[in-house]
Amino acid sequence: MKLLLLEDDDLLAESLAESLEDNGYRVDLATSLRVARSVMRTEDYALVILDLGLPDGSGLDLLSQWRKAGLDLPVLILTARDTWEDKVNGLEVGADDYLTKPFHEAELLARIKALLRRRAGHVSQELTLNGVSLNEASQSVSIDGGPWHSLTGTEFRLLRFLMHHPNRVHSKEKLIDQLYALEQDAAAPNLVEVYIGRLRRRLGKSMIQTRRGQGYVFVTH
Ligand code: CA
Repeated sequence: MKLLLLEDDDLLAESLAESLEDNGYRVDLATSLRVARSVMRTEDYALVILDLGLPDGSGLDLLSQWRKAGLDLPVLILTARDTWEDKVNGLEVGADDYLTKPFHEAELLARIKALLRRRAGHVSQELTLNGVSLNEASQSVSIDGGPWHSLTGTEFRLLRFLMHHPNRVHSKEKLIDQLYALEQDAAAPNLVEVYIGRLRRRLGKSMIQTRRGQGYVFVTH
């Protein structure tokens, strides 16, 4: 699952990106409104963490433009401004949540998880489809109520993406894009095959189907 972090404070951004990645998210970092506008045109994010004071303008204006354009992905505002007027403003413009600096990373992570769960329409740490249960906290999987098996980071991210978007065909390129952040060297699409193979060994062959020439689909019916 890929997040966009819009933050111009290098130290904070790097530390946040690191702890988000430790928690299984892929993070693209943008340090200005200009960069954020550009990556939003081409990338597919599950959530945006938005600083308000940016070198080329206010994050609020950007958020307002996104909402007017019909973009409905969850946005969490992260800012030093902490008057109640600022919070009301942010929420009215279309933010889903608001966190004031300084904050504890654990709180940010909990809020991000809550926003993503709300968006996905379920309220527990566990997602179960077709007898496959995925636990986001422990990054492990259980089949038909059996024992839990830990997944590697990449296996977890791949399975989580497929289970959050079931019954839709995802190309290898799209899956690679969800697994690796922009700044990393482009990984070979063959890697997706390798990881799909590993997941199939855990879940059974029929759960993730191949659509020849198109991609993969997690099937629930
Ligand atoms: Ca700032």
